Amino acid sequence: MTIRMNHENELLLNTVRAFIAEEMTPHEDLVDRTGEVPEEVGRRIEARAHELGLYACNLPEDVGGGGLPLTAMHLIEREYGKTSHALHSWAARPTEILLACEGDQRERYLLPAVRGEKRELFALTEPEAGSDAMGMKTNARRDGDDWILNGSKHFISGPCMPDFAIVFAATGEDDTPRGPRKRVTAFLVDIGAPGFDCREGNKSVSYRGYKTYQLSFDDVRLGPGQILGQEGKGFEIAGQWLGMGRIWVGASCCGKAERILDMAADWAAERRQFGQPIGRFQATGFRLADGAMNLRAADLMVADAVARHERGAMEDADAAMVKVFCSEMLGRIADDAVQIHGGMGLMEELPIQRLWRDSRLERIWDGTSEIQRHIVTRSMLRARGA
Ligand SMILES: Cc1cc2nc3c(=O)[nH]c(=O)nc-3n(C[C@H](O)[C@H](O)[C@H](O)COP(=O)(O)OP(=O)(O)OC[C@H]3O[C@@H](n4cnc5c(N)ncnc54)[C@H](O)[C@@H]3O)c2cc1C
Repeated sequence: MTIRMNHENELLLNTVRAFIAEEMTPHEDLVDRTGEVPEEVGRRIEARAHELGLYACNLPEDVGGGGLPLTAMHLIEREYGKTSHALHSWAARPTEILLACEGDQRERYLLPAVRGEKRELFALTEPEAGSDAMGMKTNARRDGDDWILNGSKHFISGPCMPDFAIVFAATGEDDTPRGPRKRVTAFLVDIGAPGFDCREGNKSVSYRGYKTYQLSFDDVRLGPGQILGQEGKGFEIAGQWLGMGRIWVGASCCGKAERILDMAADWAAERRQFGQPIGRFQATGFRLADGAMNLRAADLMVADAVARHERGAMEDADAAMVKVFCSEMLGRIADDAVQIHGGMGLMEELPIQRLWRDSRLERIWDGTSEIQRHIVTRSMLRARGA
């Protein structure tokens, strides 16, 4: 691991490891088999997270959060990566986008999210607008001081039925030198608002038990106080936080890769064929060596991005590079681990197949690898005026 370790971080690491070992790892198989986190398991994780000071530990102290520095969050997200998202997401780190709440919104949305009384969804993706977020059809039109919201979202994920959603909708169009561009606004929409339907949607084979929801809006009336930030500035608000989210995907991929690589190395040392441990065959051993080298590089990239963020120098391309490199590193390690395990790698009796399935999602959510590569390319070409 490449995280700067001091006494406080050592204590934190031990706490998080014990928390995962006691409250999450024992439930991984059951959750994967049934596709559900039993309510009492989720609530216990939530309660223990509060006791340990890990609930909303990412948010500043002045709103009641843990106010942990980024290096501590790096350590936490890396450890959580070793277990299932379906479980560790109960120990919520509410989205930092909520820090844009102002006035009454703080008591209605931000503070209850920090206290664990309310849970939010981040709702951007639509059935016909995934990577192409600007292709969104969800829209809100003015009606006096109010807004009327129509459209739908899917793949919107969380551990359990939420209390409200941060919904991105088109609220008009601007003329720009490159042609018309949608004005996108973020709205805070309560579950139960007339015309708003939120129900469980498709079931993912990665992180079984982590729910996706489909949202539909049929003339949902929203007051002016339900705009998060400013009208037309939804992407600006989201953009401030999305980068850090991608770094935490990278950290989590490193944690999972470490767990998988350890399992593969153990298997390669114990499993014997042709009279010797299979790890002594170069084809197997080199897979382990390549995995260890790539994991080291990925860990260093995450640490570098965290340091850049701390000094206010992180660019979109830095976060994109971390997301694509770490998730693809994890994909290779997970696939190699299945190969090293042979037939047993695909059997339900071992966790390798589950970790392999879980790993696959990391190259898709929070922006696919292809979209991350576009972000990196764009930053290189724009710097050259192209
Ligand atoms: C389990 C899960 C949870 C999720 N949680 C959330 C959530 O909480 N909130 C939310 O808003 N979204 C969420 N998502 C959505 C996720 O971010 C999208 O799935 C992702 O952005 C890709 O969109 P898509 O699935 O529509 O794929 P598409 O955009 O249809 O892409 C399909 C393929 O085409 C490629 N492609 C598309 N455009 C280009 C291009 N210009 N150049 C090269 N290749 C391209 C893609 O890279 C991909 O390989 C979740 C998804 C999953 C699976």
